[in-house]
Amino acid sequence: MSRISIEGSDEFKERTTEALNLLEEKDPVNFRRLNRHIKKIVESQNGGFVDIQERVFYESLHRLDDNAAMYAACMAHETAHLVLTDRFGLDWYDEDRIPISWIKHERVAYGTELRSLKRIDPENPRVEKLKAMISDPIAIPGRILRDLENTLKADPNCPAETRIQILEDIQRKIAHYNFSKYGPAGLGYT
Ligand SMILES: [Zn+2]
Repeated sequence: MSRISIEGSDEFKERTTEALNLLEEKDPVNFRRLNRHIKKIVESQNGGFVDIQERVFYESLHRLDDNAAMYAACMAHETAHLVLTDRFGLDWYDEDRIPISWIKHERVAYGTELRSLKRIDPENPRVEKLKAMISDPIAIPGRILRDLENTLKADPNCPAETRIQILEDIQRKIAHYNFSKYGPAGLGYT
């Protein structure tokens, strides 16, 4: 049984408990990690992210296609971010605002999600999507650039020219980054 507190609607609590039980049964290593690193799971409008300082995982019901296996694997994904931060002290940004650490984080998190989903539900259609994302060196940086662009757009202190310049600069650096330095995607099961 999980001791994590869950905040949200009755349906959210029910579906979160179902996913936690599934994770405990099929992927106990990531279930233990989750219990160690996450304090609370909270329903929110935009789910699928974790507050590293507060140790809170935010999730939304409409993101999950009513699929408990996908939800459980997402839990493993968000937990991986906290494990990385605690174990290796990875920061989101390297020097010059290059989100290389962020890319490393996501690569390990998606890899962990894939390995978890394969344990929980190997036939799940998301398995192939995750495999494709991890094997494409541009997919994860592309996602991160889009997120970063949205963050910069929402920043009133960042005019359009500055935003374009920052993104171009990062794109250039990512293009020259040695992806083989990333190592394996996903946390180990030992
Ligand atoms: Zn992530």
